[in-house]
Amino acid sequence: MTASVCVCAADAASSRKIFVSIGSDDWGRWSNSLPVFSNPHARSSAVHDMGWPSGGMPMLTTVETADDLRGLHQLLTDLNKNIRRRQKVVLTPFWVVGGPDFEGMKRSGCPHSDTCEYHELFWHNSSGGLDRAPFHRGDLRPLFQQLYQDGLWRPEYHGRSHFDTAAWIDYLRKGDVFARYYFERGMTMYHWGHRDTRTNTTHSLHCEYLADDTFYTKSIPWTREWLRAGVESFSAFWGYNTTVTSVPTHHAPDHLGQAKNCTKFGEFLLI
Ligand SMILES: [Zn+2]
Repeated sequence: MTASVCVCAADAASSRKIFVSIGSDDWGRWSNSLPVFSNPHARSSAVHDMGWPSGGMPMLTTVETADDLRGLHQLLTDLNKNIRRRQKVVLTPFWVVGGPDFEGMKRSGCPHSDTCEYHELFWHNSSGGLDRAPFHRGDLRPLFQQLYQDGLWRPEYHGRSHFDTAAWIDYLRKGDVFARYYFERGMTMYHWGHRDTRTNTTHSLHCEYLADDTFYTKSIPWTREWLRAGVESFSAFWGYNTTVTSVPTHHAPDHLGQAKNCTKFGEFLLI
């Protein structure tokens, strides 16, 4: 997870309120434009097998465990002990509502067939990708929900996949060795060192809204539909509508605001 802190001021007609916003993104996420490894051994095995194309090393980021969530619950509870209600710490976790369903995708022919299709798994109707290989974290939903019910965090919308799914599927179909190697191990990846000679750009799976590879540029109707399903899944899981969103990887097309305003939940803020 990464965290951000903002000291904010809101002017009301009669009073001025100052508050500290503590945000942390990527909760619930199991895939990214770069591999999210389940443990250090999986990371070193992949580097041993494939090398690492950037010249550096892959990120150490992994996914939450039940113990992480219990520890966070205890930490926030302790911090708030004997503290007045309006001075309590309430974390804002930016929530990823879903990700790839690797089992469903394998049934469609991925990663070696032209019939390979993107299949999606959501938190609102499943125990998510964290309950499956390679993570096997169990069903974390009760622990996520307990943090909200006890007033220790209030999730907001972060994203739906956290990477460019259309580009990923095409790269799998076309036989990109990195994409296929990581797919077999329940992860997403593409060798972004590849260049498009038509546009002389370097590709990646960087953003769910904004394609690095211009061949996969998203339209406004596509973005609207993508966002609609995402925020509806958020509401179905948490029981309320999101009021603010932090865009994954901080990349978004200019038309994201326009697409957002056409959704049923168009009131929320983009940051
Ligand atoms: Zn993120």
